[in-house]
Amino acid sequence: MGNRGYISMRTFHIYMPISAAEQSTDAELESMFPGDAKEIRGQLDSMKKQGMEVIPSEGCDNQDATGRCLGHSNSKGGNP
Ligand SMILES: [Zn+2]
Repeated sequence: MGNRGYISMRTFHIYMPISAAEQSTDAELESMFPGDAKEIRGQLDSMKKQGMEVIPSEGCDNQDATGRCLGHSNSKGGNP
């Protein structure tokens, strides 16, 4: 998908909707997250109970209550 060509001052983490993760197969879940599929599904369930809608990216320290990244200023450093 064409997400190049527009350079903004902020960077955003990529996240996955919990509903999408729930539709993944056990093997897919285990390739994306640590632990076994049963544990991962349990974690997805408890995230939903907390009102979250997406799986926050590892290392994201600026997210709203649903888990969506709110953006990070580039001056803070970080990933290329
Ligand atoms: Zn973030």
